[in-house]
Amino acid sequence: MIRSFFKRLISLKLHWQIFIALALGVIAGVLTGEEKTFFNIVTFYSVFDFLGALFLRALKMIIVPLITSSIITGVSGVGSSGSLGKIGGKTFLYYVTTSMLAILVGLMLVNIITPGIEDGSPVRDKLGLTADTGDFKEEVTEEGADALVNIFLRMIPTNPISSAVEGDILPIIFFCLLFGYFITKLPEKYNQTLNDFWQAVFEVMMQMTGFVMKFAPIGVFGLIARIVASTGFEVFGPLALYFTTVLSALAIHFLVTLPLLLMIVAKVNPIRHYNAMAPALLTAFSTSSSSATLPLTMECVEKRAGVSNRVTSFVLPLGATVNMDGTALYECVAAMFIAQAYGIGLTVGQQFIVVITALLASIGAAGIPSAGLVMITIILKAIGLPLEGVGLILAVDRILDMCRTTVNVFSDSCGTVIIAKTEGETNLLTEPIQ
Ligand code: ASP
Repeated sequence: MIRSFFKRLISLKLHWQIFIALALGVIAGVLTGEEKTFFNIVTFYSVFDFLGALFLRALKMIIVPLITSSIITGVSGVGSSGSLGKIGGKTFLYYVTTSMLAILVGLMLVNIITPGIEDGSPVRDKLGLTADTGDFKEEVTEEGADALVNIFLRMIPTNPISSAVEGDILPIIFFCLLFGYFITKLPEKYNQTLNDFWQAVFEVMMQMTGFVMKFAPIGVFGLIARIVASTGFEVFGPLALYFTTVLSALAIHFLVTLPLLLMIVAKVNPIRHYNAMAPALLTAFSTSSSSATLPLTMECVEKRAGVSNRVTSFVLPLGATVNMDGTALYECVAAMFIAQAYGIGLTVGQQFIVVITALLASIGAAGIPSAGLVMITIILKAIGLPLEGVGLILAVDRILDMCRTTVNVFSDSCGTVIIAKTEGETNLLTEPIQ
């Protein structure tokens, strides 16, 4: 009976397998916690940890060669047809527009719900915040400005090989964009050799991705069970309202704004797109990492949503680090919440600074767990809010990270479909996926 159960499970579509794994992970985590052991030999927790780590390592193994080969082939492919500037411009426009839309939804909700104020007074005392807020600035502080400038400085590698070795994605992207572009400037002989080589590397990486993806249900089970076993479902107390604000804003972006863009601009059925992207979205949720999810995102967008390799390999790797709608929104809400919790009312001008720094911070954030949380410090520095405020939002960050990463990945995928459509592709989301 167990065998036939597993047989049926394996014959299910991948996203159902992952979904079931996720649910089983929650149940397993709740039942075992961190302490329970398996025949007194090992804790269940360490088994979950092992399964999740195996999957994550396999994904990470793929990232650098996948990004390198996909950007180089993508840019040289687009560049040789002379439309690099056009597609680059559209991509940039999409990234900035959707991130701004996300931030504005967040800003609106945090102003309406005011999670940092309870019964008319700031929640600082309730949360034990003591920092002096006398240093709050009207303008961007020098230190904050430095941190912002650094985001751009870090994009250019001093040594691309060491960036690759360290898995520092943004500089790798920058180098590969240039490398791909200048391939198109080479004489035919060299151009052909390099194109063939990188295309072949890319094909291998996609095949490896397909292979690793088969293990997604096991990996997702391990990751989720581990998180649930270690954190449980804590009561969020005074953070509940903040948590709800971020979650509601993310939900609006995920369920209203982006699907509307898909319907209006790309003229495709958003439900089909959710279906096509389900394995990547569930993996983003479980790993909290856009970069680690990138291989699956590419596979889903190409194989399930029908976007050409030409557009996918340009828009997605870039989007995984640069386009983070969920993170941008979260940065804005979190900074506003901290200001409210300290009893600091921000003027429209100051809120504008928060919006712009939130956008920059989301561009600079790496696609790894908790990157957004680290970036908050830049915003706080920029407007001179006490850095101690970060400690305040730590407790609920993991779950919010899972949700914002899902939104980040979804926005990248929507951008790819929209740009493909504007490039005249007709094969998008034509097949219903059960
Ligand atoms: N974990 C997010 C991502 O990989 C970044 C963040 O922390 O907001 O997309």
